[in-house]
Amino acid sequence: MSGELAGRRALVCGASAGIGRACALALASAGAEVTVLARSRDRLAALVPELEAAGAPRAAFLAADLDRREETRRAVEELLEADGSFHILVNNAGGPPSGLLSEAREEDFLTAFGRHVLSSQVLVRALLPGMAAAGYGRILNIVSTSVREPIPGLGVSNTIRGAVASWAKSWSRELPPGVTINNVLPGFTDTDRLRALKEQVAARRACTPGEVLEAWLAEVPEGRLGRPEEIAALVAFLAGPRAGYIRGQSIAVDGGRTRGI
Ligand code: NAD
Repeated sequence: MSGELAGRRALVCGASAGIGRACALALASAGAEVTVLARSRDRLAALVPELEAAGAPRAAFLAADLDRREETRRAVEELLEADGSFHILVNNAGGPPSGLLSEAREEDFLTAFGRHVLSSQVLVRALLPGMAAAGYGRILNIVSTSVREPIPGLGVSNTIRGAVASWAKSWSRELPPGVTINNVLPGFTDTDRLRALKEQVAARRACTPGEVLEAWLAEVPEGRLGRPEEIAALVAFLAGPRAGYIRGQSIAVDGGRTRGI
């Protein structure tokens, strides 16, 4: 896919670690200019030369907290004003904490809704005029297989992922030709998030993290965790010209774990 995204500009959120970071590197390898957004200025600054080494003709960062939507909106609008529009947006951020619905507090839902739905809404509205003017836009949302099958012990996350999927499907009917939106649904993927989740589940079930991993992998026909780069490979494809007729879809990259057809 080398060079396929030459001349395209991408904004990748939650890009200081895990899947978001891998997406930024995959888009850079395909020749896109990449701006990475997350909270940690230091981690983002360290990523910029890596993106350039991977193939981005230009890379930059924007330190912003997606939980502070008004500040983020202003920062992104200033960036658009100063630097021009983007063709590709990857909506991604840290997932909601694990836990049963019976223990979830109202604010847990509100925080997760804000981070995963409202921040994406702010970013799409900010970037859409530029995408529409260019006649080329790719909006990719990193969601979860829980869009299809709720995952036990992730009550708030399951709820919010469904909302993201409905939000994206609604946008897919509203966006102009040439501007698509799709959801990528990672399965168990080897990142900081999954490692933290493994510890939390182990503590709740009074077992070892190794036993949690074993139980997870028993559900995965590929018999291993996914790699962030495997999620990013689909994101890079969907961001490219060959994916122009794929619109409003939710595609799992989960080693076959999801049982539904
Ligand atoms: P991660 O925790 O490793 O990385 C999350 C990234 O988002 C980091 O760069 C973090 O700094 C950034 N971030 C978090 N909160 C932010 C905020 N308020 N503002 C700006 N940036 C913020 O997570 P990951 O494993 O890469 O997962 C990415 C997404 O995919 C999450 O929504 C996660 O729930 C989902 N997901 C992950 C898995 C998995 O197994 N790893 C499976 C299904 C879904």
